[in-house]
Amino acid sequence: MPPRPRHTPRILCFLLAAFALTPARAADRPADHAPYLDPTQPTEVRVADLLGRLTLEEKISLVHGDSKFSTPAIPRLQIPKRWFSDGPHGVREDTGPDTWLPMGHTDDFCTAMPVLIALAATWNPDLARSYGEVIGSEARKRGKQVLIGPGVNIQRTPLGGRNFEYLGEDPWLASRIAVNDIRGIQSQGVAACVKHFAANNQERDRMSVDVEMDERALREIYLPAFKAAVREGGVLCVMGAYNRFRGDFCCENDYLLNHVLKGDWGFRGAVISDWGAVHDTHAAVLHGLDLEMGTEFPYDQFHLAQPFLDGIRRGDFPVALLDDKVRRNLRVILATGAFDPPNPGGPSGAINTPEHQAVARRVAEESMVLLKNDNRALPLELGKISSIVVIGEDAVRLQCHLGGSARLKAFYEVSPLEGILRRVGPRANVTFSQGYSSRLTPDAPDSAILIAKAVRAARSADVVIVVAGLNLARAANYKALGLVQGEDEHFDAEEADRKDLGLPYHQDELIRSVVAANPKTVVVLVSAGAVEMGAWLDRVPAVLQAWYGGMEGGNALAGILFGDINPSGKLPCTFPVRLSDSPAHALGAYPGRDGVERYSEGLLVGYRWYDTRQVAPLFPFGHGLSYTRFGYSGLRIVREGDPSTTPAWTVRFDVTNIGDRAGAETAQVYVRELHPGVFRPFKELKGFSKVFLEPGEKRTLSVTLPIAALSFYSPGLAAWVADKGEFGVIVGSSSRDIRLQSPLRLERTTVLADRELGRQ
Ligand code: BGC
Repeated sequence: MPPRPRHTPRILCFLLAAFALTPARAADRPADHAPYLDPTQPTEVRVADLLGRLTLEEKISLVHGDSKFSTPAIPRLQIPKRWFSDGPHGVREDTGPDTWLPMGHTDDFCTAMPVLIALAATWNPDLARSYGEVIGSEARKRGKQVLIGPGVNIQRTPLGGRNFEYLGEDPWLASRIAVNDIRGIQSQGVAACVKHFAANNQERDRMSVDVEMDERALREIYLPAFKAAVREGGVLCVMGAYNRFRGDFCCENDYLLNHVLKGDWGFRGAVISDWGAVHDTHAAVLHGLDLEMGTEFPYDQFHLAQPFLDGIRRGDFPVALLDDKVRRNLRVILATGAFDPPNPGGPSGAINTPEHQAVARRVAEESMVLLKNDNRALPLELGKISSIVVIGEDAVRLQCHLGGSARLKAFYEVSPLEGILRRVGPRANVTFSQGYSSRLTPDAPDSAILIAKAVRAARSADVVIVVAGLNLARAANYKALGLVQGEDEHFDAEEADRKDLGLPYHQDELIRSVVAANPKTVVVLVSAGAVEMGAWLDRVPAVLQAWYGGMEGGNALAGILFGDINPSGKLPCTFPVRLSDSPAHALGAYPGRDGVERYSEGLLVGYRWYDTRQVAPLFPFGHGLSYTRFGYSGLRIVREGDPSTTPAWTVRFDVTNIGDRAGAETAQVYVRELHPGVFRPFKELKGFSKVFLEPGEKRTLSVTLPIAALSFYSPGLAAWVADKGEFGVIVGSSSRDIRLQSPLRLERTTVLADRELGRQ
């Protein structure tokens, strides 16, 4: 017998081609006039049209990842691949499809902004908008449709490993910054993804810890920033957290996802899992997850992949459940312009422009908080100084490429020492001494020797600048970066909380010894938040909190040290004297027992605890000095609108720059219920306003207080209640530096459902 031909017989080719072009298949192709391709059609019309064209398998492909950071394209319908990227303070470098290792591309650098806690310290929502615009623009240019950020989990403990990625301890401040950041990101045609929903307030045991808290704490403290992101920011994606909440994992949590997020708040975008945070197909399908992302492949075995498809085929889940998830994903795809023709006037993205660098620098400048400045030790006057010694590993250590999933490949990073050297130039002699070492390897330098060298260098200098603090740590490839496992216990890191509040690596001893040798010592702290300072604070004249300042951080720092910039940052979190003063630790409510963590401090988070329990902080929430001084006067409260409708008030007061330098002040408005019928914290931030003033200049500031600003959440009524009675309006330069107060009377108790409230 002659051998069978190895090529496909011609007749078969013909039949295959004919089959591929049968009328039914051709009809599946989008005609150019298909409603979903028409940007003039309403979104829901486009979504419904596109949904109707998808096969069951195609729908399934849109609700789980097909690589670490993507969902697949559906070419026949022109649906592009959807790319996701961390992170909150810059667009992360590209990793391989199935690995966390960097791809080694040459086109995945970014403008590295200061971290989010620094953005919160600016108390400047307009700047938050610019910050979002920069990141959104770079994401767009890099072809990312979803930018994973911002993180808005409330800082419950100063030890929290990811406090640097969040916006501090107050729900109102966090909300204002988050909303503007999100609007900025999304103005660039990129979807923001607020995270980690919810109660992910620590890194320790983050994969398993089961958080229990009362409903008021949930609604009044931990959820408002998420709610504002949804209701005011119009955020397109929400990421579910790793931990459990009241027994169920957050990505499978019916109460959080279906009841609160989609029910009470009417969220219409997509709920995305944190990477690898899904445990059960049934719970994920039914309880509100819309897209499963993860780290372990094969991706088609994800819970929302083949197992979901099988479940639908078996009749375990109605197709309507899948359709709802797909609709939500399609809204994100449409909102990011997948089918829209290029808009010549619209955003196309840009990377590392001078404008982006300028925003990075301005955020760093406005974020730094002058904690202490006795006898005007700062700013330093270059004409009067001929020698400066800079001490401390953090003066030279680069931070942007660290920080777990938030790490970045910055175009450049100006370290504190480099910033100082650039600013000083030939006008003074600048030398550097390491002072301490964070290396844990046996060949690490001896701390006694480092301290002795630093003291010797400090003795003869006109000025000493100690740059102390922590580091960002735990990159996925930390070994490759020369880091040592275990370092992260002392640093700000994903996957680990700090071990304690102390400065590690003998830095207390270093600072004490240096200041004893030379009292003209300024301490700059690089960290995401509080460190204990009791060992040296009373001996050091000036302390500046610099956070992690991004790639322009060193320039910004030098600008402040030498007086080109007047510091205007204010603390977005309380700095306690000692760890045991802070609420969760004082009550033994961290890190939980037997896998469960009860937030027994309830509403008393941050300054709410210190005020109500009368515990003196080291530096209070909202604190931050300036090189000038501000006077407050003329508080008046004006009732707005028609008295028969829901009331609102405008709080007006004057702020005057009574010093001799231009500068900015953030005036803070707190509200207190004087005779509450239910437990209320002593006072709560409900508004703020940042103003720039020339010397002698006076401005009237206005802050609106809607009725919601007086309300508390009533679990019984499942609504917000403002009880009639007396309130106090308290205006301060910080939560403890109160300048003006006035009573306010509410005549009628008012109850508002969640959906009615634009703000709370
Ligand atoms: C982090 C998320 C991050 C994700 C993707 C997770 O481990 O918790 O914040 O967005 O990884 O990198």
